[in-house]
Amino acid sequence: TDSIHIIGGGLAGSEAAWQAASAGKRVVLHEMRPVRNTDAHESEGLAELVCSNSLRSDDFENNAVGLLHEEMRRAGSIILKCADAHRLPAGGALAVDRHGFSAGVTEALASHPNIEIRREEITAPPADWQNVVVATGPLTSPSLADFVRQLTGAESLSFFDAIAPIVHRESIDMDKAWMQSRYDKGEGKDYINCAMDKEQYAAFIEALLTGEKTEFKEWEKSTPYFEGCLPIEVMASRGIDTLRYGPMKPVGLKDPRAEKRPYAVVQLRQDNALGNLWNMVGFQTKLKHAEQVRIFRMIPGLENAQFARLGGLHRNTFLNSPTLLDGELRLKARPSLRFAGQVTGVEGYVESAAIGLLAGRFAAGKSAPPPPTTALGALLAHITVGAEAETFQPMNVNFGLFPELPAGPRGRDRKKAHSARALADLAGWLNQ
Ligand code: FAD
Repeated sequence: TDSIHIIGGGLAGSEAAWQAASAGKRVVLHEMRPVRNTDAHESEGLAELVCSNSLRSDDFENNAVGLLHEEMRRAGSIILKCADAHRLPAGGALAVDRHGFSAGVTEALASHPNIEIRREEITAPPADWQNVVVATGPLTSPSLADFVRQLTGAESLSFFDAIAPIVHRESIDMDKAWMQSRYDKGEGKDYINCAMDKEQYAAFIEALLTGEKTEFKEWEKSTPYFEGCLPIEVMASRGIDTLRYGPMKPVGLKDPRAEKRPYAVVQLRQDNALGNLWNMVGFQTKLKHAEQVRIFRMIPGLENAQFARLGGLHRNTFLNSPTLLDGELRLKARPSLRFAGQVTGVEGYVESAAIGLLAGRFAAGKSAPPPPTTALGALLAHITVGAEAETFQPMNVNFGLFPELPAGPRGRDRKKAHSARALADLAGWLNQ
């Protein structure tokens, strides 16, 4: 009964199991494949990469996901150990042989004396399991999703994930953009606004219509769009003025430096407590990532925009973590249940594994959270306290989540400074 039960042997669950077992705890890992499959997995291996074989940039000095890799290595991550062992040439990226990688993780867990792997679907964790980590991912099986929905309230699990891009505040040209809420509501200056004239708007709509889109997976085609969160290119295809009467409507807004009312406006809303990340309101999209960068930089004020996250749309299951989870990833309504991975509202293989790493350590009783100046700590702080609950959407790790640096280095130097501070603070945390 004092075992830790981990549900889901994906990126997060495998890492959580390894961390808890390495801390000397007994772990039972429950993975439903191959007894029951998901729409995206193709094997019965643990930690299967469902799509790309890349764990993204491995540059720990200049890239936040590279820094997260390095922190995880130093914290004894099995995901990073196996990724390094099965690395493929990919420039600065950490790409892996997916079969070797998954087999490596499966073998490491299966041969760990503290870990027992059971191939079964858990539809509801039994009440006598006192220490549970739910790491069932974006494709959580429907019965378990129902169970979680009952615990958290019907509104708390999203099933279609519409993501709008997020921009680094410092990359927005405020000589062109201005702060104002529509009709000066709220504080009056809650939004960043980027105005377009008629010609700019027409060119922008044309670019949206002709831009390259990501293809839907077969199983995604059967999932309807919610009318409330249509991709912008779908809205644009319904008529030239659809966006001008929708998310780009100019009413109630006036550029203080301009004579006329704007023809159309793109609004950005603050996305985190630090105030350095802003999301493009209503701009969920299936445009390819490179196309998003090209087309959104046509927006006046965003010519040099740096994106912390690009838009996307796919089926997903995740909790509104900022309201539902405590600082140790426990469900406030039922603290014996802890969550990890994509279900907590992080996005990506590495981020999912990182939250698994923390959940495994917390479950094993190592309760001190990592400092918020580390990539691990910044990601944890974002999903548990930092993000706006109302607009919470899955998030990639990025330097915008980190607390400001005391001095003011810019550009690449700023990233290096973040990284150096993170690794120094991580060492202190690991030594505790
Ligand atoms: P998973 O790795 O999915 O692991 C969850 C595990 O739980 C699975 O093994 C599943 O079989 C099991 N499970 C589910 N329900 C139960 C149950 N009731 N009982 C027991 N076991 C259960 N991220 C990227 O970085 N790059 C990409 O290219 C990428 N592509 C993606 C493509 C798709 C189609 C999707 C859906 C997501 C993609 N992601 C991608 C996002 C995300 O990073 C991955 O989904 C990642 O695998 C999430 O890790 P996880 O551990 O939370 O979930």
